[in-house]
Amino acid sequence: MTAETIRGVIFDIDGVLEYQGVVFPGAIEAIAALRERGLILRFLTNSTLKNRQSCAKKLRLKGFQVDPAEVITASYAAAIYMRQLNPRSCWIMLEPEGLEEFQGIPQDEENPEYLVIGDNRSRFDFQTLNKALRCLRRGSKLVGLLPELVDSSLGELELNVGAWVGMLERASGTPAVYTGKPSAFAFDLALKSMGLNPRQVIMVGDRVHSDIQGAQACGIRAALVRTGEFQPEDLQHGIVPDYIFNTVSEITGIELSPNS
Ligand SMILES: [Mg+2]
Repeated sequence: MTAETIRGVIFDIDGVLEYQGVVFPGAIEAIAALRERGLILRFLTNSTLKNRQSCAKKLRLKGFQVDPAEVITASYAAAIYMRQLNPRSCWIMLEPEGLEEFQGIPQDEENPEYLVIGDNRSRFDFQTLNKALRCLRRGSKLVGLLPELVDSSLGELELNVGAWVGMLERASGTPAVYTGKPSAFAFDLALKSMGLNPRQVIMVGDRVHSDIQGAQACGIRAALVRTGEFQPEDLQHGIVPDYIFNTVSEITGIELSPNS
């Protein structure tokens, strides 16, 4: 085993704790068991539709014991990133719930310094996307909340944020900076909030690129769960998880002993 004891666990939410509205058997109990053992927990999701409060509330209604301060949504991570840049103005393309994280950042849809794109499903139409394209051609910089192209967590297969951002990147010639998983920014934000170093933490996720590769690139051990978005062929591209679980409840069976 590794020299350093695991003191914290970062969970992905969709596809790990629940999927398409249904909580996985044993997930609630696994979280409770880890808390009982004194582990520091974080919930790191690439969801941009929710903010920390609404995400924690949704999980609590389903029976999970989760504090908003333990939740890092892609909308929250991007808001932290943008505040660090101190931009003149932003056009933040997000639905109202995710947008709440960006309070205090000046908004401008005509000539923004940054175009910040999450899931803005009510406005992803021909007119709005062309307006965004023209902003980029005039020099706005581009931030994408996550690079994933498709998602099924809400039910049917959908275009995800990375598909819209990627289209605008290609059409405008403006490369995007991505702030959600698998970016180091997202994982570092989680680690800092835990007060732990990467070797003391394990990430549990269902996406090999966003969760497993992203965590490992930051020095965090990663456990892949064969649920949610996982497909067997995901393991044929050279990404080797440190652990592979059939369900998230198996996290309680590995060597995690913060009190030793
Ligand atoms: Mg997931």
